[in-house]
Amino acid sequence: MTNTDTADVAGTLEQVKLLAEAGSEIVRVTVNHDAAAEAVPEIVSRLRDEGYDTPIVGDFHYNGHILLKKYPAAAQALAKLRINPGNVGTKHRDSNFVKIIEVALEHDKPVRIGVNWGSLDQRLLTELMDANAELDEPKEAQAVLMDALVESAIRSAHLAEETGLAHDRIVLSTKVSSVRELLTVYRMLAERSDYPLHLGLTEAGLGNKGIVATTAALAPLLLDGIGDTIRVSLTPRPGGDRAEEVRVAQQILQSLGIRNFEPQVTSCPGCGRTTSTFFQEMAEDITAYIRDMMPSWRTEYPGVEEMDVAVMGCVVNGPGESKQANIGISLPGTFEEPVAPVYIDGEHAMTLKGEGLVDEFKGILLDYVRRTYGAEVPVEAGAE
Ligand code: SF4
Repeated sequence: MTNTDTADVAGTLEQVKLLAEAGSEIVRVTVNHDAAAEAVPEIVSRLRDEGYDTPIVGDFHYNGHILLKKYPAAAQALAKLRINPGNVGTKHRDSNFVKIIEVALEHDKPVRIGVNWGSLDQRLLTELMDANAELDEPKEAQAVLMDALVESAIRSAHLAEETGLAHDRIVLSTKVSSVRELLTVYRMLAERSDYPLHLGLTEAGLGNKGIVATTAALAPLLLDGIGDTIRVSLTPRPGGDRAEEVRVAQQILQSLGIRNFEPQVTSCPGCGRTTSTFFQEMAEDITAYIRDMMPSWRTEYPGVEEMDVAVMGCVVNGPGESKQANIGISLPGTFEEPVAPVYIDGEHAMTLKGEGLVDEFKGILLDYVRRTYGAEVPVEAGAE
């Protein structure tokens, strides 16, 4: 999701492109006022002109029913409308919600009903709390809150269908910021419905905390087959890289063996056997090299994203781990003979030594990519 003012066409366009280039396959933009709604068609049109086909989803709260009616070109340009049923009004909640669904029908758009515990429909929560209080054995308040999240999503989906939206044009999400609660609420949702589910730990936070919490929350669900799209909601540092959340999302999917996006570099943590920083620098260098090459490799060498590369620090686990990878190098640890055996597809292929070792390994890696994933005549090892 972008964090620019959507009314800033140039800024939003740049950020959508940044996210798309990082691999985001859907980008959501805030549509919160007239200027933002007016900007949407131009953003989408310029994006298409520049060759990006990334679907743009509009995020609506409070005034979506007004903006979407007033700016039909925005509704038409968007690929999907996200509605938060807790933020469509109180007195006219259902009629406002229905108005948005009618716009979706008019422009043939799918809808994501995105419930969030920070903005849960309070009327529904009160209703469920009151009903719970009447029970012989009332549930904990937190459990009723989970029920209300799921109930809000399901009831809203039913209202959308009653308004005419097809069952398969509805996506649900029920985001919370607690890992355990997220697992509970999505499992309940998956049990109660067959709508596609969008997963995300909302307000995951900064840096490592956000990444670890998101992974802990999403991984068990994804491994259980729950979830169709995912979002990683990291708080960026001021001026930080917004695309970080895309890379984290990809890494989650790749680490779980669900989908590969780029070759994986396996490297050991190092220990007392790697007292120089050479091994760390090489692991970093090879990772950066692969990342730099991926935009062209992705199109020229389909399947390259499946490749495993190992950069290991010493003889203890180096050869073994290198043999498990497609291509691996085992660097010499302290007091070891200063040579680095390279393994290709499990076999010892050559031994490198000396100052040009990193560049030599990159050449061998490039050659392997060409031979293994290219459709053209194989290039001899070391020819590059
Ligand atoms: S492979 Fe060698 S350098 Fe790396 S962590 Fe294991 S023992 Fe240490």
